[in-house]
Amino acid sequence: MIRTGLYPGTFDPVTLGHIDIIKRAAKLVDRLVIGIAINRDKGPLFSLDERVAMIERICVPISKEAGIEIVAHPFENLLIQCARDVDATVVIRGLRAVSDFEYEYQMVGMNRSMDDEIENVFLMADAEYQSIASRLVKEIARMGGDVSHFVPQDVAEALVKKYRA
Ligand code: ADP
Repeated sequence: MIRTGLYPGTFDPVTLGHIDIIKRAAKLVDRLVIGIAINRDKGPLFSLDERVAMIERICVPISKEAGIEIVAHPFENLLIQCARDVDATVVIRGLRAVSDFEYEYQMVGMNRSMDDEIENVFLMADAEYQSIASRLVKEIARMGGDVSHFVPQDVAEALVKKYRA
């Protein structure tokens, strides 16, 4: 049986924290799907196409290194439905601080009552990346700060372009 994991998020934009979680998740499953929430309501800075392209670019070396298939999959429906659509039996989430825990705790409870077959796995990024959040990266970039410690080089450049436009 091929074990497929789903790692969902908005990835607006992808950060070194996300990448650390993707690398760890790739060691746990046979196939990894990165679920990219379309999230129209949140009004993402990067378009869906841009976010998919960033994830795909980043996943090429990780996929090679881990020896597993990693695919990007946009989704707009319930997380549980997305997991079923991609045949995932494991949902992977990153945990940063206590603040993430409260929300995740509720989500797991609600998701479980909808589908108890799907298991939730929580991973923590390396200490160096734990405090990184896409929202803060955008705020720093918008104010002209250097975000090169938080995101890959091409993403840092894309952020500069976005806020210059
Ligand atoms: P954010 O919460 O930063 O807006 P996402 O919604 O894209 O980002 O997050 C997707 C998943 O990645 C969530 O499970 C989130 O908790 C996790 N995540 C994001 N940043 C980090 C980080 N620095 N360390 C660990 N997990 C993270």
